[in-house]
This record gives sequence, structure tokens and C-alpha cells, in this order.
Amino acid sequence: MELNLKHTYYSEKMIALAAVREAADLCRNVQRELAPGEIQKKDRSPVTIADFGSQALVCSRLRKAYPNDPIIAEEVADELRTEENILVKDQVVSRVREIRPDASEAAILEWIDYGGHKDQAPRYWTLDPIDGTKGFLRGDQYAVALALIADGEVVVAALACPNLTLSMAPDSKGIIAIAVKGQGTEFFQLQDMKVLEKVSISKQIEPDKVRFSESVESTHTSHSGAQLIAQYLGISGKSVRLDSQAKYAVVAGGDAEIYMRLPSDRRYVENIWDHAAGMLIVEEAGGKVTDINGKPLIYKHGYQLKENRGVIVSNSLLHDPLLKAIAKAGIK
Ligand code: AMP
Ligand code: MG
Repeated sequence: MELNLKHTYYSEKMIALAAVREAADLCRNVQRELAPGEIQKKDRSPVTIADFGSQALVCSRLRKAYPNDPIIAEEVADELRTEENILVKDQVVSRVREIRPDASEAAILEWIDYGGHKDQAPRYWTLDPIDGTKGFLRGDQYAVALALIADGEVVVAALACPNLTLSMAPDSKGIIAIAVKGQGTEFFQLQDMKVLEKVSISKQIEPDKVRFSESVESTHTSHSGAQLIAQYLGISGKSVRLDSQAKYAVVAGGDAEIYMRLPSDRRYVENIWDHAAGMLIVEEAGGKVTDINGKPLIYKHGYQLKENRGVIVSNSLLHDPLLKAIAKAGIK
């Protein structure tokens, strides 16, 4: 009997896993060589190089396996083709060749271009080649986030967090989380891809023990709003501030019960590559993800979450109290 691999998304899951693992290797090679204090110099080229390199590697794998699937990714290669960016382009090429020695420059730029899709499609991938660029430059958290969306639903997610260690797996130096809709979330340690069997979401609801996570950047989320909601719920602990979708991994992996992304900008619309992978990782681990009004995230408008405002993530048990507190506080 022939297995229906399409339906189980088994091959998509394995390809997504291999893709983010390889991209994480490239990012680590670049981050390892960052001088301490690099960010003060305002030189963003290391993260630019890793960003493009990561996108090239992931898109080349996806294109080979699924030539008909569009890819909505954050970067476009046009910038790399300009005269002023020759040095950056050369470094992207040499970083990619550390992993794919035979890749030509033209092929690498073409791989990056595969990620240039922006519109809605029946089935497509979305990629953030480096989510949390500021964290990357600081030597802190960042993620490679990849998800497959079919008929408006996130069905496969792969999230590599190269600098994240979960308390339930203290020996892990970096993790990858994988989820398939209806099949649960699995965690692996990045160094040897060993499965982390003991990692699970937290059932904690005692206010004095609940931990909440939020972005480091106050321009990406309202820190004061989150503080207010924490007070309403009687949460006394300080927030855990992390860059990137590592925040989703931290909720799915039991190191926080809540991740709040309360809008700090009236006009900002969230991008799908900042949430699709993390969302499925949390949901399949038993958690819940909605916007601040309790609405599910709607993946029906190309690259943007046009119907949503902010994002609220929880271990499920705390979701209703959170939404009620947000409504009561009048946060919009
Ligand atoms: P984080 O690491 O959680 O701070 O999220 C990083 C992401 O925030 C980036 O990839 C940006 O796409 C996104 N971002 C940029 N501006 C804003 C904003 N005003 N509000 C929310 N997210 C933003
Ligand atoms: Mg991002």
C-alpha cells in the first residue's frame, strides 16, 4: 500500500527541518565572528549577510523539493545587485559556499529571489531568514522561522533558535522546534538533533508563579501596556524580554506561560513571517494564539496579518483572563 505522504506532510516537515538547520549553521558561523560591541558601530552588514545567506539556503531547498510552491520571505536580492553592495554580496556568496561549495553567484542570487512572492496563494511557504536581527547583532536571541500555509492554515512549522536553552533541557545549546497541524510539536537540540522528550508547555496559573515574555524593543510592543495587564492579573514577576520568535518557543517549551505583543504603533500591521511558525509550534504544544481581541490570526491576505491587531500567546489556561484584562484596560 502506498503511503499518502502529502496528507501527513511528512516530507514537508523533513525538508523544513533540514532547511532551517542548515540556515542556522550559516547564521552561527557569522554570529560567532561578531566582535563584542559590534552593534555600537551601527554596522548592520553581519546581519545582512546572514539574512541573505539564510534565505538563499532555505529557498534553494524548498524550490528543489516543491518547485510550484511560492515563498513569501522577508528579503529581496535586488539590493545585493547594486554597485555599493558588492562587498556584502561577495560575503553572502562565500558564506553560502561554506555550506554549498559548488553554488555559483548567479544561482545564489536566484535562490534569494525565489523568496520574493508577496501575494496570497492556495499553498505557500513563509520565511523569516533571521527573525530578531537586533538580537543577532547583540549576540542574543534570534530565529530562523519557516512555515507552510495551505488553504489559509498554517500546517507545518520549523523554528530554529540557535541561542536558546530551555530549562527542561539544560544541555541544549540551541533548539529546533517542529510542528505539523494535528500532530503535535517536537523539540530537538541543535548540536546533534537529539529529541528533547521532557520539554512541554507549562500548566502554571498561579499569578505569583506565572512568567510573561515580550519583545526587547519598545517600538515593537507596548512594555507599559504589558505591565498594566500583568498587574490586573496579579502577576508580580518581571517580564522575560527576548528578541524574535524565540518567545513562542519559550511558551511552547514551558519557560513562560504568556507572550504579549501589544501594539505600540497605531498603524503597524504584523507580517506573517514573524508569527506563522511560532504560532503553530505553540498551538501544537497545547497553547493558544490570537490577536488582542481574541481573533485567530488570519492568513488570507498575502504577507500581512491585515485583519489582526497585536498578538497574544498563552498556555491556553490563561488566555481568557488575559483577553478580559486587555479589554478592561481598553488596549486597542
Ligand atoms: P521582536 O524580535 O519580537 O521585537 O520582533 C522583530 C520583528 O518585529 C521584526 O522582524 C519586524 O518585522 C517587526 N516589527 C517592526 N516594527 C514593528 C512594530 N512597530 N510593531 C511590531 N513589530 C514590528
Ligand atoms: Mg522578523
